[in-house]
Amino acid sequence: MLLILHPDTDLKSDSYQRTIDHLRQLPGISYRVHEVSGARQKLTEIYLLGPTAQLDADSIEALPAVERVIRISDEYRILGRHKDQNRTEGFEYNGLRFDQSSFHLFAGLCAVDNPEHVEAMMKALKQAGLPCTRMGAYKPRTSPYAFQGHGKNCLPYVFELAGKYDIKVIAMEVTHESHIEEINDALAQTGNPTGVMLQIGTRNTQNFELLKAIGRQKTHPVLLKRGFGISLNESLNAAEYLASEGNANVIFCLRGMKTEAGNPHRNLVDFAHVPVVKRLTRMPVCIDPSHSVGNRDLAPDGISDVLHAAAQGVIAGANMMLIDFHPRPEKALVDGPQALTIPELEQLVEDIRICRDAYQKRRALYQGNPES
Ligand code: PEP
Ligand code: MN
Repeated sequence: MLLILHPDTDLKSDSYQRTIDHLRQLPGISYRVHEVSGARQKLTEIYLLGPTAQLDADSIEALPAVERVIRISDEYRILGRHKDQNRTEGFEYNGLRFDQSSFHLFAGLCAVDNPEHVEAMMKALKQAGLPCTRMGAYKPRTSPYAFQGHGKNCLPYVFELAGKYDIKVIAMEVTHESHIEEINDALAQTGNPTGVMLQIGTRNTQNFELLKAIGRQKTHPVLLKRGFGISLNESLNAAEYLASEGNANVIFCLRGMKTEAGNPHRNLVDFAHVPVVKRLTRMPVCIDPSHSVGNRDLAPDGISDVLHAAAQGVIAGANMMLIDFHPRPEKALVDGPQALTIPELEQLVEDIRICRDAYQKRRALYQGNPES
């Protein structure tokens, strides 16, 4: 059972104390307090655990600090919507708001190779007015002999350049819990010039110990990739691992499914699940057209497959896009064939504007329907 308290309830107030005193004496029931920062207010939620089916919701709702009570299923306890469209969602990080209404483009390098390429990318982002990017330092590779990323050695110049070009958030994959400390050390050493969103790759979606470690830290939000060979439900449960450890600032990323049926694409694009994740959970939804499609081949209409897939995700209401760029894709150490070039950034920004606009118009068209 979930108790939503009145907005801005003070945890030292008399009404909060009386509410807690009542909950404490419920037999076999324990509680967990969770604070959520909404766009305008601070919200406190209390999760009741144990035999809650026997509790009378009306008497709990009558407690002084409680605004309303929601009966929740075991699935996605914290991140789930539980059929309640009014639950707050999203979070603020480094001055940017991430929720199911916002949109942020994270164009950048799949793998950091040298400072010149990082600088060229960030300079282009600043010129386009874009405050976010992706930068891969720790690369999980199929072959042990392939380039594994520069790891902690590249972090100081990546963060310094981010500061120079006003980049507020960098999505960066971590494959081991020690990488969190390496990132924190490098941020401190460079004077915290930027923010980092910790990315969990598709190969680690069910690395539960890594999920728990990342969930225990609350400094950085988390971008969790869907597992490429597991069900959506299993991937959403992986996200819940993060929240159950304390960090509910999670964005869920669709990146395609590994199956021969996706040929000639690298993966089968799964962006029809954008609205599904938004309906089932309160997480903002990201799409990664680069790793879904895996190439930048052109269709006869002059638009590349990767940009067609990107458009599909945005028009379905995606809240974030992770997309590979490289100043010289032929020189990229990882995933060059799918990287877009810097001159294509401006076109992508315009394409997204067109698709977001179409999405907003579609929303308006269906407004007034029962679920909206
Ligand atoms: C990536 O985003 O660089 C990446 C490796 O993606 P995925 O985990 O989806 O394969
Ligand atoms: Mn890649």
